[in-house]
Amino acid sequence: CGSKILKGFIPPYECTAVQRILDCGGVLLGKTNLDEFAMGSSCEHSAFGPVRNPWDPQRVPGGSSGGSAAAVASGQVPLALGTDTGGSIRQPAAFTGTLGLKPTYGRVSRYGAVAYASSFDQIGPFGRTPRDLALLLQAIAGKDPNDSTSMHVEVPDYVGGLDRARTEGLKGLRVGVPKEQGLDGVQEDIRRSYQQSLTTLEQLGASVVEVSLPHLVHALATYYIIVPAEASSNLARYDGVRYGHRTERSESLEQMYCRTRAEGFGPEVKRRIMMGSFVLSSGYYEAYYRRAQQVRTLIINDYKAAFANFCDVIATPVSPTAAFKLGERMHSPLEMYLADVLTVPINLAGLPALSLPCGLDPTGLPVGLQLIAPPFQELRLLQAAESFLQQQPFDVLPLKKDSAFATGAQ
Ligand code: GLN
Repeated sequence: CGSKILKGFIPPYECTAVQRILDCGGVLLGKTNLDEFAMGSSCEHSAFGPVRNPWDPQRVPGGSSGGSAAAVASGQVPLALGTDTGGSIRQPAAFTGTLGLKPTYGRVSRYGAVAYASSFDQIGPFGRTPRDLALLLQAIAGKDPNDSTSMHVEVPDYVGGLDRARTEGLKGLRVGVPKEQGLDGVQEDIRRSYQQSLTTLEQLGASVVEVSLPHLVHALATYYIIVPAEASSNLARYDGVRYGHRTERSESLEQMYCRTRAEGFGPEVKRRIMMGSFVLSSGYYEAYYRRAQQVRTLIINDYKAAFANFCDVIATPVSPTAAFKLGERMHSPLEMYLADVLTVPINLAGLPALSLPCGLDPTGLPVGLQLIAPPFQELRLLQAAESFLQQQPFDVLPLKKDSAFATGAQ
Protein backbone atom coordinates (compact mmCIF):
# COMPACT_ATOMS: atom_id res chain seq x y z
CA CYS A 1 0.00 0.00 0.00
CA GLY A 2 3.01 2.32 -0.07
CA SER A 3 2.28 3.18 3.56
CA LYS A 4 4.42 3.26 6.68
CA ILE A 5 1.43 2.13 8.67
CA LEU A 6 1.71 -1.35 7.09
CA LYS A 7 5.47 -1.57 7.47
CA GLY A 8 6.55 -5.18 7.81
CA PHE A 9 3.03 -6.51 7.35
CA ILE A 10 2.82 -9.85 5.57
CA PRO A 11 -0.68 -10.73 4.37
CA PRO A 12 -1.84 -14.01 5.91
CA TYR A 13 -3.85 -15.09 2.85
CA GLU A 14 -3.71 -14.76 -0.95
CA CYS A 15 -5.77 -12.33 -3.00
CA THR A 16 -8.21 -14.06 -5.38
CA ALA A 17 -6.96 -12.26 -8.50
CA VAL A 18 -3.38 -13.25 -7.70
CA GLN A 19 -4.36 -16.82 -6.81
CA ARG A 20 -6.11 -17.16 -10.17
CA ILE A 21 -2.95 -16.02 -11.97
CA LEU A 22 -0.92 -18.60 -10.05
CA ASP A 23 -3.53 -21.26 -10.89
CA CYS A 24 -3.06 -20.43 -14.59
CA GLY A 25 0.70 -20.95 -14.31
CA GLY A 26 1.60 -17.27 -14.01
CA VAL A 27 4.81 -16.24 -12.25
CA LEU A 28 4.77 -13.35 -9.80
CA LEU A 29 7.87 -11.22 -9.85
CA GLY A 30 6.96 -8.76 -7.14
CA LYS A 31 4.78 -6.01 -5.81
CA THR A 32 4.98 -2.53 -7.29
CA ASN A 33 5.00 0.93 -5.80
CA LEU A 34 1.90 3.13 -5.71
CA ASP A 35 0.49 6.25 -4.12
CA GLU A 36 -0.16 5.54 -0.45
CA PHE A 37 -3.38 3.51 -0.21
CA ALA A 38 -3.94 4.27 -3.93
CA MET A 39 -4.68 7.93 -3.20
CA GLY A 40 -3.10 10.06 -5.85
CA SER A 41 -2.60 10.62 -9.55
CA SER A 42 1.18 10.72 -9.83
CA CYS A 43 2.75 7.98 -7.74
CA GLU A 44 4.52 10.56 -5.61
CA HIS A 45 2.54 9.89 -2.41
CA SER A 46 4.34 6.71 -1.40
CA ALA A 47 6.30 6.10 1.79
CA PHE A 48 8.88 4.47 -0.53
CA GLY A 49 9.39 7.59 -2.64
CA PRO A 50 8.16 8.35 -6.14
CA VAL A 51 8.01 6.17 -9.24
CA ARG A 52 9.53 7.66 -12.38
CA ASN A 53 8.19 7.51 -15.91
CA PRO A 54 10.33 5.27 -18.16
CA TRP A 55 9.70 7.66 -21.08
CA ASP A 56 11.27 10.53 -19.13
CA PRO A 57 12.57 9.96 -15.59
CA GLN A 58 11.88 13.61 -14.72
CA ARG A 59 8.18 12.94 -15.16
CA VAL A 60 5.57 11.03 -13.18
CA PRO A 61 4.19 7.73 -14.47
CA GLY A 62 0.67 8.65 -13.32
CA GLY A 63 -1.08 7.13 -10.37
CA SER A 64 -1.95 5.52 -8.29
CA SER A 65 -0.85 2.24 -9.91
CA GLY A 66 2.19 3.93 -11.47
CA GLY A 67 4.62 1.20 -10.43
CA SER A 68 2.66 -1.39 -12.40
CA ALA A 69 2.50 0.88 -15.45
CA ALA A 70 6.22 1.70 -15.30
CA ALA A 71 7.11 -1.98 -14.91
CA VAL A 72 5.15 -2.86 -18.06
CA ALA A 73 6.30 0.19 -20.04
CA SER A 74 9.96 -0.46 -19.26
CA GLY A 75 9.69 -4.08 -20.32
CA GLN A 76 10.35 -5.58 -16.91
CA VAL A 77 7.13 -7.58 -17.15
CA PRO A 78 4.58 -8.15 -19.92
CA LEU A 79 1.63 -7.88 -17.55
CA ALA A 80 0.75 -6.25 -14.26
CA LEU A 81 -2.28 -5.72 -12.04
CA GLY A 82 -3.49 -2.42 -10.74
CA THR A 83 -6.56 -1.13 -8.98
CA ASP A 84 -8.77 1.61 -10.34
CA THR A 85 -10.99 3.63 -8.01
CA GLY A 86 -10.99 6.83 -10.04
CA GLY A 87 -8.51 6.24 -12.86
CA SER A 88 -5.53 4.51 -11.30
CA ILE A 89 -5.17 1.97 -14.10
CA ARG A 90 -6.20 4.12 -17.06
CA GLN A 91 -4.26 7.30 -16.32
CA PRO A 92 -0.89 5.58 -15.64
CA ALA A 93 -1.45 3.49 -18.78
CA ALA A 94 -1.96 6.70 -20.77
CA PHE A 95 1.14 8.33 -19.24
CA THR A 96 3.37 5.35 -20.02
CA GLY A 97 2.17 4.28 -23.48
CA THR A 98 0.69 1.02 -22.19
CA LEU A 99 -2.85 -0.35 -22.18
CA GLY A 100 -4.97 -0.54 -19.06
CA LEU A 101 -8.45 -1.86 -18.44
CA LYS A 102 -10.77 -1.03 -15.57
CA PRO A 103 -13.34 -3.83 -15.59
CA THR A 104 -17.02 -3.41 -14.66
CA TYR A 105 -17.62 -3.12 -10.92
CA GLY A 106 -18.27 -6.75 -9.99
CA ARG A 107 -16.32 -8.34 -12.86
CA VAL A 108 -13.18 -9.15 -10.82
CA SER A 109 -13.11 -10.23 -7.19
CA ARG A 110 -11.51 -7.75 -4.80
CA TYR A 111 -10.95 -10.33 -2.09
CA GLY A 112 -7.50 -9.62 -0.71
CA ALA A 113 -7.20 -6.17 -2.27
CA VAL A 114 -6.93 -3.45 0.36
CA ALA A 115 -10.12 -1.38 0.28
CA TYR A 116 -9.85 2.27 -0.72
CA ALA A 117 -13.42 3.24 -1.62
CA SER A 118 -15.43 0.05 -1.62
CA SER A 119 -18.21 1.06 -3.99
CA PHE A 120 -15.63 2.11 -6.63
CA ASP A 121 -12.56 -0.18 -6.45
CA GLN A 122 -11.82 -2.69 -9.22
CA ILE A 123 -8.72 -4.73 -10.01
CA GLY A 124 -7.64 -4.78 -13.65
CA PRO A 125 -4.80 -5.55 -16.06
CA PHE A 126 -1.99 -3.53 -17.63
CA GLY A 127 -0.33 -4.79 -20.82
CA ARG A 128 1.27 -3.80 -24.09
CA THR A 129 -1.42 -5.21 -26.39
CA PRO A 130 -5.18 -5.83 -26.22
CA ARG A 131 -4.41 -9.52 -26.42
CA ASP A 132 -2.30 -9.35 -23.26
CA LEU A 133 -5.09 -7.52 -21.46
CA ALA A 134 -7.54 -10.17 -22.65
CA LEU A 135 -5.34 -13.00 -21.38
CA LEU A 136 -4.98 -11.48 -17.94
CA LEU A 137 -8.64 -10.49 -17.66
CA GLN A 138 -9.61 -14.03 -18.69
CA ALA A 139 -7.60 -15.35 -15.77
CA ILE A 140 -8.93 -13.05 -13.06
CA ALA A 141 -12.59 -12.41 -14.05
CA GLY A 142 -15.58 -14.19 -12.57
CA LYS A 143 -17.62 -14.79 -9.45
CA ASP A 144 -15.81 -15.37 -6.18
CA PRO A 145 -17.75 -16.51 -3.12
CA ASN A 146 -15.30 -14.49 -0.99
CA ASP A 147 -16.38 -11.17 -2.54
CA SER A 148 -20.12 -10.57 -2.41
CA THR A 149 -19.81 -7.71 -4.90
CA SER A 150 -18.38 -9.99 -7.60
CA MET A 151 -21.18 -10.94 -9.97
CA HIS A 152 -22.49 -14.17 -11.45
CA VAL A 153 -22.10 -13.07 -15.05
CA GLU A 154 -20.64 -15.45 -17.59
CA VAL A 155 -17.03 -14.71 -18.51
CA PRO A 156 -16.81 -14.59 -22.32
CA ASP A 157 -13.91 -15.84 -24.41
CA TYR A 158 -11.99 -12.55 -24.50
CA VAL A 159 -9.02 -13.91 -26.40
CA GLY A 160 -11.13 -15.67 -29.05
CA GLY A 161 -13.29 -12.57 -29.37
CA LEU A 162 -10.29 -10.51 -30.44
CA ASP A 163 -9.74 -12.63 -33.52
CA ARG A 164 -13.19 -11.65 -34.75
CA ALA A 165 -12.28 -7.95 -34.33
CA ARG A 166 -9.29 -8.48 -36.54
CA THR A 167 -11.44 -9.65 -39.45
CA GLU A 168 -14.53 -7.51 -38.98
CA GLY A 169 -13.20 -4.03 -38.16
CA LEU A 170 -15.63 -1.73 -36.42
CA LYS A 171 -18.42 -1.65 -38.99
CA GLY A 172 -21.64 -0.46 -37.36
CA LEU A 173 -20.07 0.51 -34.03
CA ARG A 174 -21.61 3.74 -32.75
CA VAL A 175 -19.04 5.82 -30.86
CA GLY A 176 -20.49 8.45 -28.53
CA VAL A 177 -18.74 11.75 -27.95
CA PRO A 178 -20.07 13.60 -24.88
CA LYS A 179 -21.26 17.00 -25.99
CA GLU A 180 -21.27 18.81 -22.64
CA GLN A 181 -17.84 17.60 -21.81
CA GLY A 182 -16.21 20.87 -22.63
CA LEU A 183 -12.62 19.97 -23.33
CA ASP A 184 -11.65 23.34 -21.84
CA GLY A 185 -9.14 22.05 -19.35
CA VAL A 186 -7.74 19.60 -21.89
CA GLN A 187 -4.44 20.55 -23.51
CA GLU A 188 -4.45 21.39 -27.19
CA ASP A 189 -2.13 18.49 -28.11
CA ILE A 190 -4.33 16.00 -26.28
CA ARG A 191 -7.42 17.36 -28.06
CA ARG A 192 -5.68 16.98 -31.39
CA SER A 193 -4.79 13.33 -30.71
CA TYR A 194 -8.37 12.74 -29.59
CA GLN A 195 -9.82 14.19 -32.81
CA GLN A 196 -7.37 12.13 -34.82
CA SER A 197 -8.46 9.01 -32.90
CA LEU A 198 -12.10 9.66 -33.74
CA THR A 199 -11.12 9.86 -37.42
CA THR A 200 -9.29 6.55 -37.09
CA LEU A 201 -12.39 4.95 -35.57
CA GLU A 202 -14.44 6.26 -38.51
CA GLN A 203 -11.94 4.86 -40.98
CA LEU A 204 -12.56 1.49 -39.37
CA GLY A 205 -16.27 1.74 -40.12
CA ALA A 206 -17.50 3.20 -36.83
CA SER A 207 -19.86 6.17 -36.75
CA VAL A 208 -19.25 9.03 -34.34
CA VAL A 209 -22.37 10.47 -32.67
CA GLU A 210 -22.85 13.20 -30.09
CA VAL A 211 -24.28 12.04 -26.78
CA SER A 212 -25.61 14.06 -23.89
CA LEU A 213 -24.27 13.35 -20.38
CA PRO A 214 -25.40 16.55 -18.66
CA HIS A 215 -24.47 15.63 -15.08
CA LEU A 216 -20.87 14.71 -15.76
CA VAL A 217 -19.77 18.26 -15.02
CA HIS A 218 -20.40 17.39 -11.37
CA ALA A 219 -18.50 14.10 -11.45
CA LEU A 220 -15.19 15.29 -9.99
CA ALA A 221 -16.85 17.06 -7.04
CA THR A 222 -19.11 14.08 -6.44
CA TYR A 223 -16.17 11.69 -6.51
CA TYR A 224 -14.12 13.76 -4.08
CA ILE A 225 -17.00 13.70 -1.57
CA ILE A 226 -18.06 10.04 -1.70
CA VAL A 227 -14.60 8.51 -2.09
CA PRO A 228 -12.99 10.21 0.94
CA ALA A 229 -16.11 9.30 2.96
CA GLU A 230 -15.66 5.62 2.13
CA ALA A 231 -11.89 5.87 2.56
CA SER A 232 -12.06 7.45 6.00
CA SER A 233 -14.30 4.62 7.11
CA ASN A 234 -12.08 1.92 5.56
CA LEU A 235 -8.94 3.43 7.10
CA ALA A 236 -10.38 3.37 10.61
CA ARG A 237 -9.04 -0.18 10.96
CA TYR A 238 -5.41 0.98 11.09
CA ASP A 239 -5.17 1.54 14.81
CA GLY A 240 -1.87 -0.13 15.68
CA VAL A 241 -3.58 -2.82 17.75
CA ARG A 242 -3.33 -6.05 15.76
CA TYR A 243 -0.90 -5.38 12.90
CA GLY A 244 1.24 -2.81 11.16
CA HIS A 245 2.97 0.16 12.73
CA ARG A 246 2.46 1.05 16.40
CA THR A 247 3.90 4.15 18.05
CA GLU A 248 6.52 3.66 20.69
CA ARG A 249 5.51 6.77 22.60
CA SER A 250 2.14 6.53 24.25
CA GLU A 251 0.81 6.81 27.74
CA SER A 252 -2.81 5.95 27.11
CA LEU A 253 -4.84 3.96 24.64
CA GLU A 254 -6.16 7.08 22.98
CA GLN A 255 -2.69 8.51 22.62
CA MET A 256 -1.55 5.21 21.13
CA TYR A 257 -4.27 5.40 18.44
CA CYS A 258 -3.58 9.05 17.69
CA ARG A 259 0.20 8.82 17.54
CA THR A 260 0.16 5.57 15.57
CA ARG A 261 -2.04 7.16 12.94
CA ALA A 262 -0.17 10.46 12.98
CA GLU A 263 3.13 8.65 12.44
CA GLY A 264 1.85 5.99 10.06
CA PHE A 265 -0.19 7.92 7.50
CA GLY A 266 1.24 10.36 4.95
CA PRO A 267 -0.21 13.83 4.26
CA GLU A 268 -2.52 12.89 1.38
CA VAL A 269 -4.10 10.03 3.32
CA LYS A 270 -4.64 12.34 6.30
CA ARG A 271 -6.25 14.90 4.00
CA ARG A 272 -8.67 12.26 2.69
CA ILE A 273 -9.52 11.11 6.22
CA MET A 274 -10.31 14.67 7.22
CA MET A 275 -12.38 15.39 4.10
CA GLY A 276 -14.25 12.10 4.54
CA SER A 277 -14.94 12.66 8.22
CA PHE A 278 -16.12 16.17 7.45
CA VAL A 279 -18.64 15.23 4.78
CA LEU A 280 -20.02 12.46 6.98
CA SER A 281 -20.26 14.55 10.13
CA SER A 282 -23.61 15.58 11.51
CA GLY A 283 -24.76 18.83 10.04
CA TYR A 284 -22.82 18.28 6.80
CA TYR A 285 -23.95 14.77 5.91
CA GLU A 286 -27.12 15.97 4.20
CA ALA A 287 -25.44 18.87 2.41
CA TYR A 288 -22.49 16.91 1.06
CA TYR A 289 -22.62 13.14 1.35
CA ARG A 290 -26.34 12.64 0.72
CA ARG A 291 -26.39 15.20 -2.09
CA ALA A 292 -23.36 13.58 -3.74
CA GLN A 293 -25.07 10.19 -3.65
CA GLN A 294 -28.06 11.70 -5.45
CA VAL A 295 -25.81 13.20 -8.11
CA ARG A 296 -24.12 9.82 -8.50
CA THR A 297 -27.50 8.36 -9.48
CA LEU A 298 -28.00 11.11 -12.07
CA ILE A 299 -24.60 10.32 -13.58
CA ILE A 300 -25.42 6.61 -13.73
CA ASN A 301 -28.68 7.45 -15.49
CA ASP A 302 -26.92 9.71 -18.02
CA TYR A 303 -24.74 6.81 -19.14
CA LYS A 304 -27.69 4.40 -19.16
CA ALA A 305 -29.67 6.68 -21.44
CA ALA A 306 -26.72 7.24 -23.78
CA PHE A 307 -26.02 3.53 -24.17
CA ALA A 308 -29.70 2.58 -24.43
CA ASN A 309 -30.46 5.07 -27.19
CA PHE A 310 -27.44 6.37 -29.00
CA CYS A 311 -24.13 4.56 -28.81
CA ASP A 312 -22.22 1.31 -28.17
CA VAL A 313 -19.08 2.86 -26.69
CA ILE A 314 -18.11 6.36 -25.57
CA ALA A 315 -14.71 7.81 -26.43
CA THR A 316 -12.92 10.56 -24.49
CA PRO A 317 -9.33 11.49 -23.72
CA VAL A 318 -7.96 9.77 -20.59
CA SER A 319 -6.33 12.75 -18.99
CA PRO A 320 -6.24 16.51 -19.71
CA THR A 321 -2.43 16.41 -20.07
CA ALA A 322 0.40 14.01 -20.82
CA ALA A 323 2.77 12.98 -18.01
CA PHE A 324 3.63 16.03 -15.92
CA LYS A 325 6.92 16.76 -14.16
CA LEU A 326 7.77 15.28 -10.79
CA GLY A 327 6.88 17.68 -8.00
CA GLU A 328 4.84 19.92 -10.29
CA ARG A 329 1.50 19.31 -8.58
CA MET A 330 2.56 18.30 -5.10
CA HIS A 331 1.92 21.79 -3.73
CA SER A 332 -1.71 21.82 -4.89
CA PRO A 333 -4.07 18.94 -4.09
CA LEU A 334 -6.73 20.50 -6.29
CA GLU A 335 -4.49 20.50 -9.34
CA MET A 336 -3.67 16.87 -8.64
CA TYR A 337 -7.38 16.01 -8.39
CA LEU A 338 -8.06 17.77 -11.70
CA ALA A 339 -5.94 15.12 -13.42
CA ASP A 340 -8.83 12.71 -12.71
CA VAL A 341 -11.63 14.72 -14.28
CA LEU A 342 -12.06 12.41 -17.28
CA THR A 343 -11.65 9.08 -15.48
CA VAL A 344 -13.73 9.37 -12.28
CA PRO A 345 -17.17 9.54 -13.92
CA ILE A 346 -16.73 5.95 -15.08
CA ASN A 347 -16.09 4.68 -11.55
CA LEU A 348 -19.11 6.58 -10.23
CA ALA A 349 -21.17 4.57 -12.73
CA GLY A 350 -19.28 1.27 -12.25
CA LEU A 351 -18.66 0.93 -16.01
CA PRO A 352 -15.76 -0.78 -17.80
CA ALA A 353 -13.25 1.47 -19.55
CA LEU A 354 -10.01 0.93 -21.41
CA SER A 355 -7.08 3.24 -22.02
CA LEU A 356 -4.98 2.69 -25.12
CA PRO A 357 -2.09 4.67 -26.56
CA CYS A 358 -3.17 6.85 -29.50
CA GLY A 359 0.02 8.74 -30.29
CA LEU A 360 2.73 11.01 -28.93
CA ASP A 361 2.51 14.69 -28.09
CA PRO A 362 5.04 17.08 -29.69
CA THR A 363 7.48 16.48 -26.81
CA GLY A 364 7.40 12.73 -27.47
CA LEU A 365 5.22 11.69 -24.53
CA PRO A 366 2.45 9.13 -24.95
CA VAL A 367 -1.21 10.15 -25.11
CA GLY A 368 -4.13 7.87 -24.23
CA LEU A 369 -7.61 7.34 -25.63
CA GLN A 370 -10.36 6.18 -23.28
CA LEU A 371 -13.13 3.89 -24.47
CA ILE A 372 -16.12 3.28 -22.18
CA ALA A 373 -18.76 0.54 -22.55
CA PRO A 374 -21.97 -0.62 -20.85
CA PRO A 375 -21.58 -3.03 -17.89
CA PHE A 376 -19.81 -6.32 -18.69
CA GLN A 377 -18.98 -5.31 -22.27
CA GLU A 378 -15.21 -5.52 -21.75
CA LEU A 379 -14.92 -7.60 -24.92
CA ARG A 380 -16.32 -4.73 -26.97
CA LEU A 381 -13.57 -2.48 -25.59
CA LEU A 382 -10.84 -5.02 -26.29
CA GLN A 383 -12.10 -5.52 -29.85
CA ALA A 384 -12.24 -1.79 -30.49
CA ALA A 385 -8.71 -1.35 -29.10
CA GLU A 386 -7.44 -4.22 -31.25
CA SER A 387 -8.90 -2.76 -34.44
CA PHE A 388 -7.73 0.72 -33.53
CA LEU A 389 -4.13 -0.34 -32.98
CA GLN A 390 -4.13 -2.31 -36.24
CA GLN A 391 -5.13 0.84 -38.06
CA GLN A 392 -3.00 3.22 -36.01
CA PRO A 393 -0.13 1.21 -34.49
CA PHE A 394 1.75 2.48 -31.47
CA ASP A 395 5.37 1.66 -30.83
CA VAL A 396 5.85 0.78 -27.19
CA LEU A 397 8.83 2.31 -25.47
CA PRO A 398 12.03 1.28 -27.18
CA LEU A 399 14.44 0.25 -24.44
CA LYS A 400 17.72 2.09 -24.70
CA LYS A 401 20.71 -0.05 -23.81
CA ASP A 402 22.19 2.63 -21.55
CA SER A 403 18.91 3.68 -19.88
CA ALA A 404 18.63 3.44 -16.14
CA PHE A 405 15.86 0.89 -16.55
CA ALA A 406 17.79 -1.33 -18.91
CA THR A 407 20.77 -1.44 -16.53
CA GLY A 408 18.68 -1.78 -13.41
CA ALA A 409 20.26 1.32 -11.88
CA GLN A 410 16.91 2.75 -10.75
N1 GLN B 1 -6.45 9.82 -8.36
C1 GLN B 1 -7.67 9.29 -7.83
C2 GLN B 1 -7.68 9.43 -6.33
O1 GLN B 1 -6.73 9.86 -5.80
C3 GLN B 1 -7.88 7.86 -8.26
C4 GLN B 1 -7.00 6.92 -7.56
C5 GLN B 1 -7.36 5.47 -7.83
O2 GLN B 1 -8.03 5.15 -8.79
N2 GLN B 1 -6.90 4.63 -6.94
O3 GLN B 1 -8.63 9.12 -5.69
